[in-house]
Amino acid sequence: MIRLKNIHKSYTTGSNTLHVLKGVDLEIGKGELVSIMGSSGSGKSTLLNVLGILDNYDQGEYFLNGELIQNMNEKKAAHYRNRHIGFVFQSFNLISFKNAMENVALPLYYKKVSRKKRNEKAMGYLDKLGLKEWAHHLPNELSGGQKQRLAIARALISEPSMILADEPTGALDSQTSMEMMDLFKEINSMGITVLIVTHERDIAAKTQRIIRLKDGIIESIVTNGERKKWLREQSMA
Ligand code: ADP
Ligand code: MG
Repeated sequence: MIRLKNIHKSYTTGSNTLHVLKGVDLEIGKGELVSIMGSSGSGKSTLLNVLGILDNYDQGEYFLNGELIQNMNEKKAAHYRNRHIGFVFQSFNLISFKNAMENVALPLYYKKVSRKKRNEKAMGYLDKLGLKEWAHHLPNELSGGQKQRLAIARALISEPSMILADEPTGALDSQTSMEMMDLFKEINSMGITVLIVTHERDIAAKTQRIIRLKDGIIESIVTNGERKKWLREQSMA
Protein backbone atom coordinates (compact mmCIF):
# COMPACT_ATOMS: atom_id res chain seq x y z
CA MET A 1 0.00 0.00 0.00
CA ILE A 2 2.92 2.33 0.85
CA ARG A 3 6.27 2.27 -0.91
CA LEU A 4 8.92 4.89 -0.24
CA LYS A 5 12.13 4.92 -2.24
CA ASN A 6 15.04 7.06 -1.18
CA ILE A 7 12.91 9.92 0.16
CA HIS A 8 14.72 13.16 0.96
CA LYS A 9 13.25 16.27 2.49
CA SER A 10 14.78 19.54 3.63
CA TYR A 11 13.34 22.63 5.24
CA THR A 12 14.71 25.99 4.28
CA THR A 13 14.26 28.95 6.59
CA GLY A 14 16.02 32.11 5.50
CA SER A 15 19.50 31.07 4.45
CA ASN A 16 19.47 27.86 6.52
CA THR A 17 18.66 24.48 5.04
CA LEU A 18 17.92 21.58 7.34
CA HIS A 19 18.16 18.16 5.75
CA VAL A 20 15.53 16.17 7.70
CA LEU A 21 14.77 12.99 5.75
CA LYS A 22 17.98 11.58 4.30
CA GLY A 23 17.00 8.68 2.09
CA VAL A 24 14.09 6.80 3.60
CA ASP A 25 13.17 3.42 2.06
CA LEU A 26 10.06 1.79 3.46
CA GLU A 27 7.28 -0.57 2.52
CA ILE A 28 4.08 -0.95 4.46
CA GLY A 29 1.53 -3.52 3.40
CA LYS A 30 -2.21 -3.19 3.41
CA GLY A 31 -3.69 -3.99 6.81
CA GLU A 32 -0.47 -3.59 8.81
CA LEU A 33 -0.28 -2.01 12.26
CA VAL A 34 3.09 -0.27 12.47
CA SER A 35 4.80 2.15 14.83
CA ILE A 36 7.49 4.72 14.14
CA MET A 37 9.83 5.53 17.02
CA GLY A 38 12.76 7.89 17.31
CA SER A 39 13.97 10.76 19.42
CA SER A 40 12.57 14.25 19.14
CA GLY A 41 13.69 15.92 15.93
CA SER A 42 14.52 12.65 14.14
CA GLY A 43 11.95 13.40 11.42
CA LYS A 44 8.95 11.32 12.50
CA SER A 45 6.33 14.01 11.95
CA THR A 46 7.99 15.06 8.70
CA LEU A 47 7.78 11.46 7.47
CA LEU A 48 4.14 11.22 8.52
CA ASN A 49 3.34 14.50 6.77
CA VAL A 50 4.89 13.19 3.57
CA LEU A 51 2.93 9.94 3.87
CA GLY A 52 -0.25 11.93 4.54
CA ILE A 53 0.37 14.18 1.51
CA LEU A 54 0.32 17.16 3.83
CA ASP A 55 3.78 18.08 2.62
CA ASN A 56 5.94 17.48 -0.46
CA TYR A 57 9.28 15.72 -0.55
CA ASP A 58 12.35 16.82 -2.52
CA GLN A 59 13.74 13.61 -3.92
CA GLY A 60 12.78 9.96 -4.28
CA GLU A 61 9.45 8.28 -4.94
CA TYR A 62 6.32 7.72 -2.90
CA PHE A 63 3.77 5.22 -4.17
CA LEU A 64 0.40 5.02 -2.43
CA ASN A 65 -1.79 2.14 -3.60
CA GLY A 66 0.38 1.89 -6.69
CA GLU A 67 0.08 5.56 -7.61
CA LEU A 68 3.06 7.92 -7.62
CA ILE A 69 2.42 10.79 -5.22
CA GLN A 70 4.62 13.62 -6.39
CA ASN A 71 4.40 17.41 -6.75
CA MET A 72 0.64 17.39 -6.34
CA ASN A 73 -1.27 20.61 -6.24
CA GLU A 74 -3.35 21.16 -3.11
CA LYS A 75 -6.62 20.23 -4.80
CA LYS A 76 -5.34 16.87 -5.96
CA ALA A 77 -3.59 16.22 -2.64
CA ALA A 78 -6.82 16.95 -0.78
CA HIS A 79 -8.66 14.56 -3.06
CA TYR A 80 -6.20 11.74 -2.27
CA ARG A 81 -6.25 12.53 1.44
CA ASN A 82 -10.04 12.49 1.58
CA ARG A 83 -10.18 9.21 -0.25
CA HIS A 84 -7.41 7.29 1.47
CA ILE A 85 -6.22 8.80 4.73
CA GLY A 86 -7.48 9.58 8.22
CA PHE A 87 -5.37 11.65 10.63
CA VAL A 88 -5.11 11.60 14.41
CA PHE A 89 -2.92 14.10 16.27
CA GLN A 90 -1.55 14.40 19.80
CA SER A 91 -3.47 17.63 20.38
CA PHE A 92 -6.72 16.20 18.94
CA ASN A 93 -7.25 19.19 16.60
CA LEU A 94 -10.96 19.42 17.33
CA ILE A 95 -12.95 22.55 16.58
CA SER A 96 -13.73 24.05 19.97
CA PHE A 97 -17.00 25.79 19.02
CA LYS A 98 -18.51 22.77 17.28
CA ASN A 99 -20.09 19.93 19.21
CA ALA A 100 -18.90 16.31 19.12
CA MET A 101 -21.27 15.27 16.33
CA GLU A 102 -20.36 18.27 14.17
CA ASN A 103 -16.64 17.62 14.65
CA VAL A 104 -17.01 14.01 13.54
CA ALA A 105 -19.23 15.01 10.60
CA LEU A 106 -16.85 17.70 9.31
CA PRO A 107 -14.93 15.61 6.73
CA LEU A 108 -18.23 14.80 5.04
CA TYR A 109 -19.04 18.51 4.76
CA TYR A 110 -15.99 18.83 2.51
CA LYS A 111 -17.28 15.88 0.53
CA LYS A 112 -20.54 17.78 0.03
CA VAL A 113 -22.67 15.23 1.88
CA SER A 114 -26.00 16.70 3.06
CA ARG A 115 -26.22 17.83 6.70
CA LYS A 116 -28.82 15.19 7.54
CA LYS A 117 -26.75 12.35 6.07
CA ARG A 118 -23.47 13.46 7.61
CA ASN A 119 -25.00 13.92 11.06
CA GLU A 120 -26.61 10.48 10.83
CA LYS A 121 -23.32 8.89 9.92
CA ALA A 122 -21.49 10.86 12.64
CA MET A 123 -23.99 9.57 15.22
CA GLY A 124 -23.29 6.02 14.05
CA TYR A 125 -19.54 6.47 14.64
CA LEU A 126 -20.11 8.19 17.99
CA ASP A 127 -22.23 5.22 19.00
CA LYS A 128 -19.52 2.75 17.94
CA LEU A 129 -16.93 4.63 19.98
CA GLY A 130 -19.14 4.90 23.06
CA LEU A 131 -19.68 8.64 22.76
CA LYS A 132 -23.33 8.81 21.72
CA GLU A 133 -24.43 10.57 24.90
CA TRP A 134 -21.78 13.22 24.28
CA ALA A 135 -22.92 14.12 20.77
CA HIS A 136 -24.13 17.58 21.69
CA HIS A 137 -21.28 18.47 24.02
CA LEU A 138 -18.37 20.71 23.11
CA PRO A 139 -14.83 19.25 23.07
CA ASN A 140 -13.82 21.07 26.27
CA GLU A 141 -16.55 19.17 28.14
CA LEU A 142 -14.86 15.86 27.30
CA SER A 143 -11.91 14.06 28.91
CA GLY A 144 -8.64 13.61 27.02
CA GLY A 145 -9.48 10.02 26.13
CA GLN A 146 -12.94 11.01 24.91
CA LYS A 147 -11.45 13.81 22.79
CA GLN A 148 -9.05 11.37 21.18
CA ARG A 149 -11.86 8.89 20.50
CA LEU A 150 -13.77 11.76 18.92
CA ALA A 151 -10.78 12.53 16.71
CA ILE A 152 -10.61 8.84 15.76
CA ALA A 153 -14.32 8.84 14.87
CA ARG A 154 -13.65 11.88 12.66
CA ALA A 155 -10.76 10.05 11.01
CA LEU A 156 -12.93 6.99 10.36
CA ILE A 157 -15.99 8.71 8.96
CA SER A 158 -14.58 9.06 5.45
CA GLU A 159 -13.75 5.33 5.44
CA PRO A 160 -9.99 5.68 4.87
CA SER A 161 -7.78 2.75 3.95
CA MET A 162 -5.07 4.10 6.26
CA ILE A 163 -4.92 5.97 9.58
CA LEU A 164 -1.85 8.10 10.36
CA ALA A 165 -1.52 8.98 14.03
CA ASP A 166 1.16 11.38 15.29
CA GLU A 167 1.81 10.68 19.00
CA PRO A 168 -1.90 10.00 19.57
CA THR A 169 -1.34 9.02 23.21
CA GLY A 170 1.15 11.78 23.98
CA ALA A 171 -1.40 13.78 25.97
CA LEU A 172 -3.09 10.82 27.68
CA ASP A 173 -2.46 8.94 30.93
CA SER A 174 -1.09 5.42 30.63
CA GLN A 175 -4.35 3.55 31.17
CA THR A 176 -6.19 5.68 28.62
CA SER A 177 -3.23 5.22 26.26
CA MET A 178 -3.57 1.45 26.46
CA GLU A 179 -7.33 1.71 25.81
CA MET A 180 -6.53 3.85 22.79
CA MET A 181 -4.14 1.18 21.52
CA ASP A 182 -6.86 -1.46 21.90
CA LEU A 183 -9.06 0.79 19.79
CA PHE A 184 -6.35 1.15 17.11
CA LYS A 185 -5.97 -2.64 17.12
CA GLU A 186 -9.70 -3.05 16.62
CA ILE A 187 -9.66 -0.54 13.75
CA ASN A 188 -6.71 -2.40 12.26
CA SER A 189 -8.55 -5.72 12.53
CA MET A 190 -11.22 -4.24 10.23
CA GLY A 191 -8.53 -4.11 7.55
CA ILE A 192 -7.43 -0.49 7.92
CA THR A 193 -3.68 0.12 7.81
CA VAL A 194 -2.56 1.97 10.95
CA LEU A 195 0.69 3.91 11.43
CA ILE A 196 1.42 5.30 14.86
CA VAL A 197 4.26 7.65 15.74
CA THR A 198 5.14 7.26 19.40
CA HIS A 199 7.82 7.95 21.99
CA GLU A 200 6.57 5.18 24.23
CA ARG A 201 7.98 1.69 24.11
CA ASP A 202 4.87 0.00 25.50
CA ILE A 203 2.73 1.68 22.83
CA ALA A 204 5.07 0.50 20.08
CA ALA A 205 5.07 -2.98 21.63
CA LYS A 206 1.38 -3.24 20.74
CA THR A 207 2.09 -2.90 17.02
CA GLN A 208 3.32 -5.56 14.58
CA ARG A 209 6.45 -3.75 13.44
CA ILE A 210 8.56 -1.02 14.98
CA ILE A 211 10.37 1.32 12.61
CA ARG A 212 13.19 3.26 14.26
CA LEU A 213 14.11 6.58 12.76
CA LYS A 214 17.41 8.24 13.65
CA ASP A 215 18.57 11.54 12.15
CA GLY A 216 16.30 11.12 9.15
CA ILE A 217 17.36 7.56 8.35
CA ILE A 218 15.65 4.30 9.18
CA GLU A 219 17.98 2.71 11.70
CA SER A 220 16.10 -0.55 12.11
CA ILE A 221 12.80 -2.28 11.54
CA VAL A 222 11.87 -4.93 14.04
CA THR A 223 8.81 -7.14 13.99
CA ASN A 224 7.36 -7.63 17.42
CA GLY A 225 7.68 -11.42 17.17
CA GLU A 226 11.47 -11.01 16.81
CA ARG A 227 11.55 -8.45 19.58
CA LYS A 228 9.75 -10.72 22.03
CA LYS A 229 12.15 -13.54 21.15
CA TRP A 230 15.12 -11.22 21.73
CA LEU A 231 13.72 -10.13 25.10
CA ARG A 232 13.23 -13.78 26.10
CA GLU A 233 16.82 -14.57 25.15
CA GLN A 234 18.10 -11.57 27.12
CA SER A 235 16.20 -12.66 30.21
CA MET A 236 17.66 -16.17 29.98
CA ALA A 237 21.24 -15.02 29.39
P1 ADP B 1 10.00 14.62 15.19
O1 ADP B 1 8.54 14.52 14.87
O2 ADP B 1 10.72 13.32 15.06
O3 ADP B 1 10.22 15.23 16.53
P2 ADP B 1 10.07 16.57 13.05
O4 ADP B 1 9.82 15.81 11.81
O5 ADP B 1 8.93 17.34 13.60
O6 ADP B 1 10.69 15.59 14.14
O7 ADP B 1 11.24 17.59 12.81
C1 ADP B 1 12.52 17.23 12.30
C2 ADP B 1 13.36 18.48 12.24
O8 ADP B 1 12.83 19.36 11.25
C3 ADP B 1 13.42 19.27 13.53
O9 ADP B 1 14.73 19.76 13.68
C4 ADP B 1 12.44 20.39 13.30
O10 ADP B 1 12.78 21.53 14.02
C5 ADP B 1 12.54 20.63 11.81
N1 ADP B 1 11.27 21.08 11.21
C6 ADP B 1 10.09 20.45 11.26
N2 ADP B 1 9.14 21.11 10.58
C7 ADP B 1 9.74 22.22 10.08
C8 ADP B 1 9.29 23.31 9.27
N3 ADP B 1 8.03 23.40 8.85
N4 ADP B 1 10.20 24.27 8.96
C9 ADP B 1 11.48 24.18 9.38
N5 ADP B 1 11.96 23.18 10.13
C10 ADP B 1 11.11 22.20 10.48
MG1 MG C 1 6.82 15.02 15.90
